[in-house]
Amino acid sequence: MGRKLLLEHAKVPGIRHIDTYIQHGGYRSVHKALKTMTPDEVVEEVKKSGLRGRGGAGFPTGMKWSFLAKPEGIPRYLVCNADESEPGTFKDRYLMEYLPHLLIEGMITSSYALGANTSYIYIRGEYRWVYTILVEAIAEAYAKGYLGKNILGSGFNFDLYVQPGGGAYICGEETALLESLEGKRGNPRMKPPFPAIKGLWQSPTVVNNVETIAAVVPIVNEGGDEYAKIGIGKSTGTKLISACGNIKNSGVYEIDLGLPVDEFLNSDEYCGGVANGKRLKAVIPGGSSVPIVPAGLFYKNIKGEDRLMSYESLSDGGFASGTMMGSGGFIVYDEDQCIVRNTWNLARFYNHESCGQCSPCREGTGWLVKVLDKIEHGKGATMADIDLLWDIQRRIEGNTICPLGDAAAWPVAAAIRHFRDEFEWHIKNPQLAQSKNYGLVKETVYQTV
Ligand code: SF4
Repeated sequence: MGRKLLLEHAKVPGIRHIDTYIQHGGYRSVHKALKTMTPDEVVEEVKKSGLRGRGGAGFPTGMKWSFLAKPEGIPRYLVCNADESEPGTFKDRYLMEYLPHLLIEGMITSSYALGANTSYIYIRGEYRWVYTILVEAIAEAYAKGYLGKNILGSGFNFDLYVQPGGGAYICGEETALLESLEGKRGNPRMKPPFPAIKGLWQSPTVVNNVETIAAVVPIVNEGGDEYAKIGIGKSTGTKLISACGNIKNSGVYEIDLGLPVDEFLNSDEYCGGVANGKRLKAVIPGGSSVPIVPAGLFYKNIKGEDRLMSYESLSDGGFASGTMMGSGGFIVYDEDQCIVRNTWNLARFYNHESCGQCSPCREGTGWLVKVLDKIEHGKGATMADIDLLWDIQRRIEGNTICPLGDAAAWPVAAAIRHFRDEFEWHIKNPQLAQSKNYGLVKETVYQTV
């Protein structure tokens, strides 16, 4: 049974309200930080914890905080990226919906550490009901004196706002988010300068994910060294995973990093195994943009070792067998699922969400959709179209302003790398590939495990 540093009280009745939250130990980190620690000491604890960004990139949080410029007379900001939009990822929504005060507590403690007197939570526009929950929780925190002027008599003034987005996936990219927060179209900015130097309204800004900011609470409460004892290697602490697809128990789980993937997928404590007695075909373990891994490469890494739920183990083997922890959106495919159809579907998503600023992404994602549509729907595709797909994704990857280009390219590359036979089968059998009884037809060429 894994530790519950974040979700321990998620199911306590009334925990959304501040009195219940305080009864269960809430806001302790604010008391501890503001009354007994300097801002630099809080930053030091976060560094010691080894906490890495939980939004996808996995960059060390303490190091990111230490990059924040501190020019005299210019405000600094902490912005919480709650624009969770990656297909298959819904763990931040769960955290905000059930434990809004955990996020607010993390925002206060983290903003104190960074010297930010005003901070923002930028929340996905579709999470309308969660926005309301946060607004109510913020009002409670003001009423209790955890927000506002001279918090707990410490002299620290802090205001917190929550801003809903307009429904664009690209606003989850930190610089696009800042543009949107400033009231402009959410186009990613060229970097450098990085937000730590010139972020919101040209001021030094740290952008952190919801789960990252929430994790600061147990780190301050228990100390960075204690947090670092959980996990494995450079993957310290616990991680929220949203699990979905063809599994018995969909949901959000908090795991100790380093848990074997076999245990996470197959034990009743977590996913409960593949649903309906089907065989496992593939897994996308970190949200739709990370490479898909076939069952045969999922349980063991390229050296034959058990694969773990950790940043390092999941990426082991590079492009040959690796994938990524990403945002923790764990998507499971059983033997009946069509990889070509899935890849086409994801390509449509990224093409739709491209902001259009740079041509490899704007044009390339459109071409991926066109060629995949041709293969998936039996529109006269030839084997050369598989090579064309490969060529297009190569021209996108690494050649764009923001990571959406890579996010569009990687699913296509991994699908061709591991499931080329399925693409070839579609091209050779255009009528069968479109059959409504696709799962049964697929059995005849199933050969990935
Ligand atoms: Fe926009 Fe795509 Fe370029 Fe990102 S990679 S800036 S989403 S066009």
